[in-house]
Amino acid sequence: MDERVLAEMLPYFTQHFGNAASVSHAYGWAADAAIQKARQSIATAIHASPEEIIFTSGATEANNLAIKGVAEAYLNKGRHIVTVATEHNAVLDPCHYLATLGFEVTILPVQSDGLLDLTTLEAALRPDTLLVSVMAANNEIGVLQPLAEIGALCHQAQVLLHTDAAQAIGKMPLDMQTLQIDLMSLTAHKVYGPKGIGALYVRRRNPKVQLAPQLHGGGHERGMRSGTLYTPQIVGFAKAIELAISNLTVETQRIQALRDRLWHTLSQLDGIFLNGHPSQRLPGNLNFSVAGVDGQALHLGLQSVVAVSSGSACTSAKIAPSHVLQALGRSPALAYASLRFGIGRFNTVAEIDQVAQATISTIQALRSHKISDSSSQIPLSNPQ
Ligand SMILES: *Cc1c(COP(=O)(O)O)cnc(C)c1O
Repeated sequence: MDERVLAEMLPYFTQHFGNAASVSHAYGWAADAAIQKARQSIATAIHASPEEIIFTSGATEANNLAIKGVAEAYLNKGRHIVTVATEHNAVLDPCHYLATLGFEVTILPVQSDGLLDLTTLEAALRPDTLLVSVMAANNEIGVLQPLAEIGALCHQAQVLLHTDAAQAIGKMPLDMQTLQIDLMSLTAHKVYGPKGIGALYVRRRNPKVQLAPQLHGGGHERGMRSGTLYTPQIVGFAKAIELAISNLTVETQRIQALRDRLWHTLSQLDGIFLNGHPSQRLPGNLNFSVAGVDGQALHLGLQSVVAVSSGSACTSAKIAPSHVLQALGRSPALAYASLRFGIGRFNTVAEIDQVAQATISTIQALRSHKISDSSSQIPLSNPQ
């Protein structure tokens, strides 16, 4: 977390500790004022209005609220939902759950660069489609989906569009005036904010989106999400987004230069393949597969040098090759033997160079040991 975020949060634990829903005293008013200011600030960052921001515990909850909430509210329209194979499990699993309740879910494939093909999407839309859910930026490969075109397509077909922007917020402009997005999930902890806080943007005009609450209780958040608001987290969330947006261009250029420097060094190795579109991706994301090495050995070899992973932290408890890399057409062996580097605000050129050298020597050592398992038999020139 950025220390400036923490500094903003601290007084709301100890001094201004009131409950924002307590309307009868000054402690409550102070908390309410802080939340109103934060809500306005987050809304401004995405060119929305404050009434369109529903605070949640993070993007997982926001995705669940969007998908299940729309499914329940638009039952009279139909039971068909469309999403994409490379989505986060917090989108895929609510869709699978709805399928058990009798909804029909279409999971679209992606192209080998990770991008959704618009004609594939268009062909999937039906009169009974109530929701399309396509993420803004992928959490494993950083690929940015063409949201403007997807939104136009969905609105033309009068289908609501939800986007999981957990990775995109604070890393690229997201303008709800121009993008035809109806619901958008946000989270604070991917932009140097605290964990456990996020929001769902819910469009109020053209169209006014209906949503069935998934948490019932005191009627907070205009009835869409009951539960006492966590003032310090909300204040920190807003501060994190303000910091990211106010320095967006400079920071993304700096981070992208670090990412490009890392890839420039690593890509000189043979048998190393970038995963995902080369330029339509988050500036700080680098994901690649390495032929001729065992995936697990690769990770073990780097563990003590760098906090790097293959899939996402959210699924790392599962020992299965990434569903995202497999959706790109990578073989299970190459999906295992993949590394995902996330480069951020506090990384330095020296760290990049150190990591590049450690990665290269680990790969070279593994290759020279000639481990005789199947994954090391892939020829270095085979891009699958
Ligand atoms: C991290 C992440 C989530 C989950 O967000 P939480 O706030 O941790 O619940 C969902 N979707 C994507 C794309 C993510 O990167």
